[in-house]
Amino acid sequence: MPYSQLLSWYERNKRTLPFRGTRDPYAVWVSEIMLQQTRAETVAGYYDRFLKRFPTVRALAEADEQEVLKLWEGLGYYSRARNLHRAAGIVYHEYNGVIPASYEVVRSLPGVGDYTAAAVCSIAFGLPYPAIDGNLTRVISRVHGIREDVGIPSVRREIRRLAGENIDRERPGDWNQALMDIGASLCVPGTPDCAYCPLNARCDACANEDADMLPVRAAAKPPVPMDVGVSLVTCGGKILLMQREAALLRGLWVFALCESGSGKQDMENRLRALGLDPRFAADLGEAKHVFTHRVWNMRLYHFTVEKQAQIKNAIWADADILSALPLPTAMKKARQIAIETLRESR
Ligand code: SF4
Repeated sequence: MPYSQLLSWYERNKRTLPFRGTRDPYAVWVSEIMLQQTRAETVAGYYDRFLKRFPTVRALAEADEQEVLKLWEGLGYYSRARNLHRAAGIVYHEYNGVIPASYEVVRSLPGVGDYTAAAVCSIAFGLPYPAIDGNLTRVISRVHGIREDVGIPSVRREIRRLAGENIDRERPGDWNQALMDIGASLCVPGTPDCAYCPLNARCDACANEDADMLPVRAAAKPPVPMDVGVSLVTCGGKILLMQREAALLRGLWVFALCESGSGKQDMENRLRALGLDPRFAADLGEAKHVFTHRVWNMRLYHFTVEKQAQIKNAIWADADILSALPLPTAMKKARQIAIETLRESR
């Protein structure tokens, strides 16, 4: 049994994180959504603030989406917040605000994939579903010596089968969390720390000394670079903000963007297409933001206009409103300059 020492190791070494120790399905669900693509240490502060403001499914279901996004600001991957909000509405209206102890129901909620459903059901309800994320894939492929590309569906199925076969039926939540901790602390990408690992006596990769080669993954495509113009368009003490409709950053507020080019002329053309008559005021330098599949290489400008045109899904905001609205991290540098510009013009 490769995992026989796992739970006793977990008792002695588990990470103390704010979301550990609870079996409240709602709290576990919120933490697992936040933990998708985000480090546990980063999630800790957001988790506390979020649960304080939305302590129940009902509180979240009844909240305004903009407030949910504002609390999510800086965590990234905002579709997670929108889906969580939508899913809370479903649980509130269809299940009386109580998350059912059913993998199928949890898995059917917006934003919940196999991993999150398994994590919630194993931790909150003690159901024996392995929560297979990057950490578990790495540990299991090493322990069982899987030396094929883990991106291939049949290899993924084999990893799931092995995990399902070995998961502790009494304490599936602890089993999952123990492997997550091992993946985060000992069985790390690159060279793992096998000497301290409770799985080392029965680990195939440790015995073969090729753990640093596992898991096998085909090279991921690098994110595609895009030149994007960002304009701070001011009029008196107000600045133009637009709510995104595109899938990337949908629902968040951004400055006037030109995604077909970052040149000054591109930007001017875009502003004219919005019905504005822009006057160039300053070149504000550059910024860069890396998304999962794209890199925005941004050129920042300041334009002024004499008249606040009415633009669909846009507002003219003062410095206080600008601070209160949810803006994505990609707009961080531009927002900083915008707040300073608006304060100077008071
Ligand atoms: S023994 Fe080494 S390779 Fe195997 S699971 Fe532990 S840390 Fe990973």
